[in-house]
Amino acid sequence: MTRTPYLADRLQGFGTTVFAEMSALAVATGSINLGQGFPDYPGPPEVLEVARAAIGTAADQYPPGPGTPELRTAISEHRQRFTGTAYDPDTEVLVTVGATEALAAAMLALVEPGDEVVLLEPVYDSYSASIAMAGGVLRPVPLTAPAAGGGHWAFDPADVRAAITPRTRLLLLNTPHNPTGTVLTGEESAFLAELAVEHDLLVLTDEVYEHLVFDGARHISPATLPGMRERTLVVSSAGKTFNVTGWKVGWICGPAPLVTAVRTAKQFLTYVNAGPFQPAVAAGLRLPDAYFAGAARDLQYRRDVLVAGLRAAGLPVISPEATYFATVDVRGVQPDGDGLAFCRALPARAGVVAVPSGVFYTAEHAHLGRHLVRFAFCKADAVLGEAVERLAAMGRPA
Ligand code: PMP
Ligand code: GLN
Repeated sequence: MTRTPYLADRLQGFGTTVFAEMSALAVATGSINLGQGFPDYPGPPEVLEVARAAIGTAADQYPPGPGTPELRTAISEHRQRFTGTAYDPDTEVLVTVGATEALAAAMLALVEPGDEVVLLEPVYDSYSASIAMAGGVLRPVPLTAPAAGGGHWAFDPADVRAAITPRTRLLLLNTPHNPTGTVLTGEESAFLAELAVEHDLLVLTDEVYEHLVFDGARHISPATLPGMRERTLVVSSAGKTFNVTGWKVGWICGPAPLVTAVRTAKQFLTYVNAGPFQPAVAAGLRLPDAYFAGAARDLQYRRDVLVAGLRAAGLPVISPEATYFATVDVRGVQPDGDGLAFCRALPARAGVVAVPSGVFYTAEHAHLGRHLVRFAFCKADAVLGEAVERLAAMGRPA
């Protein structure tokens, strides 16, 4: 491996994120960007309007360190409404710079050098880097992809048991899951919760896609299961729920001693952020149930458009249960079956950008993701339509 000059050992191997690389490729080639997961349509007007009105007021100055009381109260009420779990807005809720900072601060606060973090692989890219920054060790348990068509990505419970050692500090769960779009079932969540209790593990759950769940799937917040609230930190963010990924307003909720530890790290990373966006996100979290159900319905429709289009283009696709992303097996259209090579060539071949799922795997399990490519469907109808037309044309003789 080539070393990056100046970069500390613990971050060697972490190059430019694939999202940055692929978004830059989309801009440079004028391709349709189905790589990085961000919507190309605006959030709810009543949320945007609150942010606009807050600019030029006292909200432009530093908010309180843990977040504005109004936003912390709205976060607490939202969790109570959708999961039935109560958090004290004063001591058990912390506002962060997106879910990313919440996760990084949690890792820095809770993980000692050499501590192990068990998680399900493929794994969202920032986790590995945050664990590395904390000096922790990744213990990935592979998810097995379902057959093309759809279905559930599952783990072998024996693999999770085997990954837990006396050095395990944290179980890091992401449900709904990026990049697979899978949602932990009731049975899986119960198994993981029992294991966490049995081994007295801390649990960190990333639930940024909590509302973007389709068909019959149901999001279960692991913190709601027996024995879990007292050991679990729940992370979420406004980005996905309100189509405002650039606002970077996230939060973390949990028992006061755990949140106090995370706040200690967080206050020296960024201290505070997003003054005018904090009241806007508070307004969003207070929208009626119909808004959240509508967001899921709308995205499910976009999933169906992309999945049908990819199938019509002859690409075998795994239709997701949730999130922004569908997964394609490229072995039929890429002779060496290499998803990264497929993605690097796709702008020239089809004028479309996607993300190779291989980047979400550790070297140990790289073979499981090498042939998979992730396409985002959080895009306007016309954009999705044009993208699938271009992909279909790629498969037709010129
Ligand atoms: N976790 C997951 C699983 C994600 O997909 C993302 C980004 N889309 C994040 C965390 C980061 O969220 P934020 O932009 O709020 O930092
Ligand atoms: N979470 C987004 C994705 O998976 C990207 C966020 C980022 O660029 N870090 O596409």
